[in-house]
Amino acid sequence: MSAERLQCITCSREYDIMEVRYTCDCGGLLSIERTGLVDRDAFDDRLTSRADIDRSGVWRFREGVLNIDKVVTHPEGATRLYRRNGLLFKHEGENPTGSFKDRGMTVAVTQAVRVKATAVACASTGNTSASLAAYAAQAGLKAIVFVPSGKISSGKLAQTLAYGATCLQVRGDFDAAMRLVREACDRLGIYLVNSINPFRIEGQKTIIWELLQDLGWEAPDWIVVPAGNLGNTSAFGKALREAHANGWIARMPRLASIQAHGANPFFRSYQGSFETRHRIAAETIASAIRIGDPVSHDKAVSAIRETLGVVEEVTDDEIMSAKREIDGMGIGCEPASAATLAGVKKLRAAGVMKEGEQIVCVLTGHILKDPEANYRAEKVVEIDPTIEAVERVLV
Ligand SMILES: [Zn+2]
Repeated sequence: MSAERLQCITCSREYDIMEVRYTCDCGGLLSIERTGLVDRDAFDDRLTSRADIDRSGVWRFREGVLNIDKVVTHPEGATRLYRRNGLLFKHEGENPTGSFKDRGMTVAVTQAVRVKATAVACASTGNTSASLAAYAAQAGLKAIVFVPSGKISSGKLAQTLAYGATCLQVRGDFDAAMRLVREACDRLGIYLVNSINPFRIEGQKTIIWELLQDLGWEAPDWIVVPAGNLGNTSAFGKALREAHANGWIARMPRLASIQAHGANPFFRSYQGSFETRHRIAAETIASAIRIGDPVSHDKAVSAIRETLGVVEEVTDDEIMSAKREIDGMGIGCEPASAATLAGVKKLRAAGVMKEGEQIVCVLTGHILKDPEANYRAEKVVEIDPTIEAVERVLV
């Protein structure tokens, strides 16, 4: 065993880091664990470095992500933190392909190269496929993406095809595409890079670590995240657990995972104290979180429990109203990201989030990811090319 190993979250069985597997023989999810403490001082020193590996907001933290020198990095991360209306917004839509997925993908594709895979695949609502396609192109790997037919935005599909991936539109929803890609990878020897792949989670942890670093390692009171397949909720819980165990932060922030009402299996489970795992047919305007059977459920339950977190649901109307507000701040995001602000409003109204608490919303995708959700023809005024026509509208 190397210092880094795969470990089952259910039965604790360990596997070598170089073994290609996504679940334990017992069926449990795998997590990457390491022995020994990691010091945070090197992370701060690297902020002034000009090397790609240090400029990456993922690999800057490599001792806690994947301890390897040869990486496939764009570089990614190093996203901005915006202060608006008393809230903080960490905009993961500023990653190279326009979503937080690049954080996990740089690690998963690095590992794919390390285990000498020749092809990589994922099921996706769109952002993962775009990210996979970009990183596979950089690494020279064949990329295959499984997307639910007619259910992903034109922006994300166009992006995936432009980077050169083979795109399979599955007649069914995301959950059907997810089941199919797992079977295809097993049978055809393709390397699977969905968030069930524990290397993805290691990369996504750095959203939180970079945020903590941005805040001078002073933890906020709340971190709010959209919740679909629950990869981020899981990764954020692991990031906070490790940051606390390594002594990088003195106290744990609380996580708030926000689901869309029409895609709320995790919220339902939370309401029943996580005694039952729900699987539903999902429907919401927020396509990035339109998922009824989240693969990272078990890890996400631990994340909510360990951070004294909460799970909330919001309607599509609440999401779109929050999106207009975020767009109106000059920041902008895709609909799923706006579930965060909608969730904050609801949790404040319920007294769960209190006046004076520091709250960080993680925006997961760029405003241009879902053009159909932005464009409103009635807001565009068509005029003749004369100054009189301009005056009629403006004066
Ligand atoms: Zn196990």
